[in-house]
Amino acid sequence: MANEKLNVRCCVVGGGPAGMMLGYLLGRAGVDVLVLEKHADFLRDFRGDTIHPSTMQCLYELGLLDAFLKRPHQEVREIGADISGKRYEIADFSHLPVHKRCIAFMPQWHFLDFLAGEAKAIPNFKLRMETEVTDLVWDGHRIAGVRAKHGDDRLDIRADLVVGCDGRHSTVRAKAGLQVNDLGAPMDVLWMRIPKEPDAEGGTLGYIGADGFLVMLDRGDYWQCAFVIAKGNFEAVQAEGIESFRDRLVRINPEISKNVQALASFDDVKLLTVTVDRMQRWYRPGLLCIGDCAHAMSPIGGVGINLAIQDAVATANILAEQLRDGPAAVGLLDEVQQRRQWPTRMTQSLQIFLQNKLIKPLLAQTSAPKAPLAIKLLNWIPPLRRIPARIIGMGFRPEHIRCREVLTPPEKKS
Ligand SMILES: Cc1cc2nc3c(=O)[nH]c(=O)nc-3n(C[C@H](O)[C@H](O)[C@H](O)COP(=O)(O)OP(=O)(O)OC[C@H]3O[C@@H](n4cnc5c(N)ncnc54)[C@H](O)[C@@H]3O)c2cc1C
Repeated sequence: MANEKLNVRCCVVGGGPAGMMLGYLLGRAGVDVLVLEKHADFLRDFRGDTIHPSTMQCLYELGLLDAFLKRPHQEVREIGADISGKRYEIADFSHLPVHKRCIAFMPQWHFLDFLAGEAKAIPNFKLRMETEVTDLVWDGHRIAGVRAKHGDDRLDIRADLVVGCDGRHSTVRAKAGLQVNDLGAPMDVLWMRIPKEPDAEGGTLGYIGADGFLVMLDRGDYWQCAFVIAKGNFEAVQAEGIESFRDRLVRINPEISKNVQALASFDDVKLLTVTVDRMQRWYRPGLLCIGDCAHAMSPIGGVGINLAIQDAVATANILAEQLRDGPAAVGLLDEVQQRRQWPTRMTQSLQIFLQNKLIKPLLAQTSAPKAPLAIKLLNWIPPLRRIPARIIGMGFRPEHIRCREVLTPPEKKS
């Protein structure tokens, strides 16, 4: 068992969307940055796969968009819903004031692998996989680094700033004693894959009927499906048996009657326990938390990954200059929170409103639901569909890349 000691300017805990993007941006800005990821790879099924126009705009500003779009993905310009058998158009992304006017569906591992590949060329950026942070290093009241393990080896990493990007069950947040407020969610989501016929019409659609609420995301040769259930109800769904569950899905969307047989048992169904929460204070001296670690989002709108990216961009914009030369002042950590707290709060308020006013009544209902007036208006008046597209696709305070590139990797110069 080896014991390694390291010194870095910034240690980012977690190689998810927030951590990889922040690592890339800080490294690009000339900050000595180390990202620690506990898993051996980025391969995790059913994660945030919806890359919104706000994220693609940042990739465009970084000169990475064309390379990113070479990875396998599907593009969706409009979102609709089938309510009790009638189709309603809800959001139209084709008028947004950005370079790429659509949502790109890309498995999260492709996105993270892409960022890791781009970051590798940056001398200041280091990534250590299979390295799990287990504790924080304290220097009085200040966090001065982390303790981590890699197999049997132990690492003691000193850093001027630790950034917690380790997701909704954050170790860093718990060890720092930072408080998180649970904002509540009336639902959980069951994720599953259902094969897609090659000639089936694509697009992304929500199906809402007497038997429940099913979202089908077009993933080329399969549908990534999310079935919404009342909070804590997964055991009851399982008790009814897989056949009954398949029948229920078919009653909601009869077009999948053949393909749904691919769900052989509940091993093919993954439970996402929906959490909506937000930290009171996102920082302490020497530590900042961003992404899901600071605020877990409801799956409504598929905004989680995009907010995590926006947090990373804002963090790099605010901290990079100072971190290049020394520790970041606590006032700047507060600036990050002030900048990102408002869009987070606005998005969560909207999600909670929709959870309580739309989804909760739907989950309680046993007869065929009627479309709410707001959905009917969106369907009748096409220009109105730009409003949900703007909120979902751009968010409340879209960030732009402002931190300058300091060390140009040799590969990019040619
Ligand atoms: C089933 C499911 C479906 C989802 N669907 C969508 C969707 O369609 N669209 C969307 O936008 N969002 C979706 N989300 C949410 C989205 O995945 C998250 O909001 C987003 O990934 C947050 O990014 P993050 O980097 O903050 O955290 P995470 O993605 O959670 O990344 C945290 C990283 O930290 C690592 N880590 C954790 N602890 C440690 C440790 N102690 N040491 C080192 N590393 C550690 C983890 O392995 C992980 O890689 C979904 C989430 C789930 C669970």
